[in-house]
Amino acid sequence: MRKRKERADLPENEFERMRELMVEQQLVPRGIRNPGVLDAFRKVPRHRFVEKDLQNSAYDDHPLPIGEGQTISQPFMVACMTQCLDIKKNERVLEIGTGSGYQAAILAEIAAEVYTVERIDSIAKKAEALLRELGYNNVQYRVADGTNGWPEKAPFNGIIVTAGAPRVPEPLVEQLAEGGRLLIPVGGSWSQELRIVRKEKEGMREEYVCGCVFVPLVGEHGWREG
Ligand code: SAH
Repeated sequence: MRKRKERADLPENEFERMRELMVEQQLVPRGIRNPGVLDAFRKVPRHRFVEKDLQNSAYDDHPLPIGEGQTISQPFMVACMTQCLDIKKNERVLEIGTGSGYQAAILAEIAAEVYTVERIDSIAKKAEALLRELGYNNVQYRVADGTNGWPEKAPFNGIIVTAGAPRVPEPLVEQLAEGGRLLIPVGGSWSQELRIVRKEKEGMREEYVCGCVFVPLVGEHGWREG
């Protein structure tokens, strides 16, 4: 009997079709309308950011494991956060939690410069190699505790934290430019609320976006290790 062809063996144009379906079925109906965000999701090859044996489900409506107990977020959550960040072409963004590098690639399609910080060295190295291979030249990488931000490169127009924090880390608020937006999941270690913090002339404004589930943000201004 002939072995059924694994979907991971599919040609690139099949993955392109799956990307289009992801956009039309998961993102647009749930309110993702920003054309720049939708274009980025049509372009970035999400299947390259997971292991070969998971490529068949790379475009499905859920997060996937990327090793070391970490995950690549659900497409809709990445899209929702990116749309809320509302990044313009000339702006600079800081991401905390590089993970697979997928969110960084989406941001790199939209922003002028992306700075991404990851605490686990092996994960950071893998993401950097892939993003370079895919031709993203506007991304800079750092292995460090991202709860301290990246002070040497501040201020940022947008900061996106892709791990769940017990509270909003003060250094990140400090490193926001005036008019800047910080997207961060805040709450317990099993579920959080996504918040957007805006730095305005008159002061800080904080809004609730939606409920969410992220792996823990571990560090000085996050959860303690273990
Ligand atoms: N943005 C990622 C998803 C990240 S999962 C993607 O698109 O795939 C969350 C990541 O945050 C994990 O890789 C975890 O190691 C990292 N992380 C947790 N605490 C951190 C910290 N204090 N600083 C930097 N990275 C952290």
